[in-house]
Amino acid sequence: MGKPNFSSYSIEELMDCKQNIDKDKWPKRYQEILDAIALRVKDPDQKKSHNEIVFIEFCKELQDDLEIAIDDNLWPLLGLFSKRFRNSVPSTFDGQVCPVCSGSLNISQRLGFWVIACGKCNLSYAIQERPNVN
Ligand SMILES: [Zn+2]
Repeated sequence: MGKPNFSSYSIEELMDCKQNIDKDKWPKRYQEILDAIALRVKDPDQKKSHNEIVFIEFCKELQDDLEIAIDDNLWPLLGLFSKRFRNSVPSTFDGQVCPVCSGSLNISQRLGFWVIACGKCNLSYAIQERPNVN
């Protein structure tokens, strides 16, 4: 197997590798990816892309958690009946902080979407509340 030349990878590709590599099996290669990312984010534009990817990945994980939480406690169904409940934020979001700056997140609900935003990083991402229901 040829050794990948990470210096020729885009920041997106590097982030993808970092996400998908088996770091227990390839600890040295994982470290090489981290090093390549660290080098890349010295450039402000690349750092911006890096932060966006980190933020989006974080939100997608929250979305997975949210689906489980909804299944567990019938959150959307209850929401139909209880206005108070409707205005509450699911426990999935409890204690979550911005994955980039560790600041507090601004979570709001809009038309069946949860909008997760960090004012400090100027990043936001909308996750769907009930992805598989029309
Ligand atoms: Zn932030």
